[in-house]
Amino acid sequence: MLPARVKIVEVGPRDGLQSEPLILPVVVRAELIDRLTRCGFSTIEAGSLVSPKAVPQLAESETVYRSIQRKDGVEYPLLVGNLDGLERSIRADARQISVFCAATEAFSMANNRCSIQQNLERIRSICDKALANEITVRAYLSCTLGCPFEGKVDAGFVAKIAGLLIDYGCYEVSLADTIGVGTAGSVSRLLETVSRRIPLEKIAVHFHDTYGQALANVLVALQSGVNVIDSSVAGLGGCPFAGNASGNLASEDLLYMLDGMGIETGIHLNRLIETAWTVADIFGRQPESRVSKAIGRKLAPEFSRYPKV
Ligand code: MG
Repeated sequence: MLPARVKIVEVGPRDGLQSEPLILPVVVRAELIDRLTRCGFSTIEAGSLVSPKAVPQLAESETVYRSIQRKDGVEYPLLVGNLDGLERSIRADARQISVFCAATEAFSMANNRCSIQQNLERIRSICDKALANEITVRAYLSCTLGCPFEGKVDAGFVAKIAGLLIDYGCYEVSLADTIGVGTAGSVSRLLETVSRRIPLEKIAVHFHDTYGQALANVLVALQSGVNVIDSSVAGLGGCPFAGNASGNLASEDLLYMLDGMGIETGIHLNRLIETAWTVADIFGRQPESRVSKAIGRKLAPEFSRYPKV
């Protein structure tokens, strides 16, 4: 049975922007988040407190966070990689953070520069301190359907790590298909395995459209009982000019499908398309969204007031 309501977690201002080749000014990043709030999202990733040397696109995320007009009932998590990042999030008065872990050792070494076990210990200490400060923690688990270094990934191992993240106090684990290789078949098998270890209501999915499978995978996730889906406005993060083009599922494409299925999200499609064209125009290209391209930029008359970067 399909859910009556789905929560879309908008990851464009963090996961999206960090993979883009251009660095947006703080004021533009804050404006993007405010626009997404007005679209009706209930969770919007607002930035990252990892090293600005590693991710210059998200430097000064605290300033962005303080600049946005936070709406009651909307969550604005900041990505945190260690206790220093958590301290910064506490000083910024963040109420939600996200942590990240990999489902393969090779990706963990490349992305986190430590083993999975070392990273899990780090996450456990972040969770302990965050929860003591009444900050809720969301977890990302990357490479759950395939790894650029190791290839196939064992679903049982994914379930084991997802279970530990929930045991540490994360309220939700987002299972990410980081390289977009998953299909309806592998997603179904993964969710069946992981849901034996943690409840379905604590599972979110994060698909990349690299192989054009993202919406099919979302449908299978909905049919499996998942009702939290990550996506990125304009498909940010899937820049064809970036070396590591990853192709986040575009929020407009997801919303169009959910609207068509009569599933409630609280998000306004036309406002979202307008926002997608605005942000794509800043990057000087079209949105990576079939829906936004089909409907066109007629909904975005204000785009020209934004600075080009
Ligand atoms: Mg992503």
